[in-house]
Amino acid sequence: MTDERIAIVGAGMAGLACAERLVRGGRQVVLFDKGRRVGGRMATRRQAGRQFDHGAQFFTARDPSFQEAVRGWQALGVVGEWAQAGEDAETRWVGSGSNRALPEHLAASLDVRLGTAIAPLDGRTIHTEEGRWLGRFDEVVVTAPPTQAAALLACSDTLLARLGNPTHSPCWAVIAAFAERPCEEDVLRDRGALQWIARDASKPGRPKGETWVIHANEAWSRANLEHGPERVADELLRCWAHSLGRPMRPTFAVAHRWRYARVTDPIGEPFLRDPEARLTLAGDGLLGPRVEAAWLSGVAAAEAILG
Ligand SMILES: Cc1cc2nc3c(=O)[nH]c(=O)nc-3n(C[C@H](O)[C@H](O)[C@H](O)COP(=O)(O)OP(=O)(O)OC[C@H]3O[C@@H](n4cnc5c(N)ncnc54)[C@H](O)[C@@H]3O)c2cc1C
Repeated sequence: MTDERIAIVGAGMAGLACAERLVRGGRQVVLFDKGRRVGGRMATRRQAGRQFDHGAQFFTARDPSFQEAVRGWQALGVVGEWAQAGEDAETRWVGSGSNRALPEHLAASLDVRLGTAIAPLDGRTIHTEEGRWLGRFDEVVVTAPPTQAAALLACSDTLLARLGNPTHSPCWAVIAAFAERPCEEDVLRDRGALQWIARDASKPGRPKGETWVIHANEAWSRANLEHGPERVADELLRCWAHSLGRPMRPTFAVAHRWRYARVTDPIGEPFLRDPEARLTLAGDGLLGPRVEAAWLSGVAAAEAILG
């Protein structure tokens, strides 16, 4: 253990992977996240006594180091295969019981401060958005989505220059429950404005019931970005009903807007570092909008810091 204290902004897959590696390397790490739960876009929402994975639906594992990590989580029962989502030979992995199970497992042994929105950094000094001083750290890693990261890292010309003007695609998601099964399939892809429709309860270890998640495609989400959630839920359910040729009667439906769902122009390097300022940027904005890419970025950033 060294006396070096490292702050990580963001407790999604990148921040958690980075923290876990740094702690194994003997560093003292504190994670700050503005959310009420860990996981970021690897999210599970509970509503009306039901649960829904309304962000990332599943993840794949292509890099040998991530495959090894996934095998370890599988052995612990933290993740499982979701056979119903398969459309080719590649395994689709999900958290066991909920997708948030994986980030919660990673966070269990870490120092995570939730409900803590961090203001633009003043070097390595960290304040909340309300101005509360949280400390001066020896190193700071930012893992927020790139547009938000650019605001946090405005103090580093080096990082800002390399970050450029990041762009994201948004995604409107609808979570809906039904008294009766609305269609035979567990997963439907590309139905008009709907990119993805999935029966959440078909994932391993989920409570029984007709719990469904719908994702609008990028064009529809962008065109309707500022519409209210009630209107969005209504319109997307009507799209689904139209494709099925019969009305949908959910017991409830709620829309959630992911404004920064997926980065559209990933940087192509695993992390960016300003070695003089000792500031690092990691997250899925570096290697691409996938859970695996976020994890790889977090680990690579940690290894660079450990030297
Ligand atoms: C609708 C949707 C569907 C997806 N489907 C898939 C899929 O099927 N498969 C797949 O592999 N990937 C999918 N993805 C992408 C995947 O979810 C992400 O690539 C991955 O989870 C990103 O992890 P991350 O740690 O880089 O970022 P995030 O998970 O976004 O974590 C960043 C964290 O930073 C926090 N934060 C931001 N600003 C601040 C601040 N100022 N102060 C404190 N905290 C802050 C946020 O609260 C967040 O928790 C999907 C994403 C969405 C939105």
